[in-house]
Amino acid sequence: MLERLVSQGIRAQPVLDAMAAVPREAFVDEVQSVRAYEDCSLPIGQGQTLSQPYIVARMTELVMAGEPRLTRVLEVGTGSGYQAAVLAQLCQSVFTVERIGAFLEQAKARHRALGLLNIRYMHRDGFKGWPSQAPFEAIVVTAAPDAVPPELKEQLAIGGRLVIPVGAQGGGQKLTVITRLADNEYQTRWYDLVSFVPLLPGSLA
Ligand code: SAH
Repeated sequence: MLERLVSQGIRAQPVLDAMAAVPREAFVDEVQSVRAYEDCSLPIGQGQTLSQPYIVARMTELVMAGEPRLTRVLEVGTGSGYQAAVLAQLCQSVFTVERIGAFLEQAKARHRALGLLNIRYMHRDGFKGWPSQAPFEAIVVTAAPDAVPPELKEQLAIGGRLVIPVGAQGGGQKLTVITRLADNEYQTRWYDLVSFVPLLPGSLA
């Protein structure tokens, strides 16, 4: 998987090290685990998917922006817990928000089993982020809204970045990076064409 990531253009060594440190098979059920290191997304239940390794690495590279380590990062869309586990290798604290309660409990158990203790969890609608823990050096959203939620931009530290797939389902989403340059000044850059599940409002048990 690592050689493939390098050939796909992932260059940041800390990101490759983090991908190497997290056993991907621990984040999918037994039936899927034989495919855990293949270049594909995997079903995680409730119509949700764990992105292919390249997309996880790519988003992590954009989150890190060349820095070796970050202090506070927010993830919206915990899902299997895999992306949070990769971020936990590179950040002092990871805050992760998920709208489906059952996913959150499962991710927590997986992280504990791997001895990952620097992740905090919130069961809520991630459109609103996690205001009481803001500001964040980076926010990564692993489901796609039609438009960037303004609350998430407001929870960035100055110099911080929001990495988010944006666009309608089936209409081609763009991996977007929004950097907060000053209080009311943001810069937007567009990267890969991606296909994420939708960011949905409200929360479920
Ligand atoms: N990062 C995950 C990917 C999971 S797929 C992983 O590593 O496995 C996207 C996840 O986003 C799903 O679990 C879905 O329930 C969640 N999600 C969708 N809308 C959300 C919202 N508004 N707030 C929080 N989580 C949301």
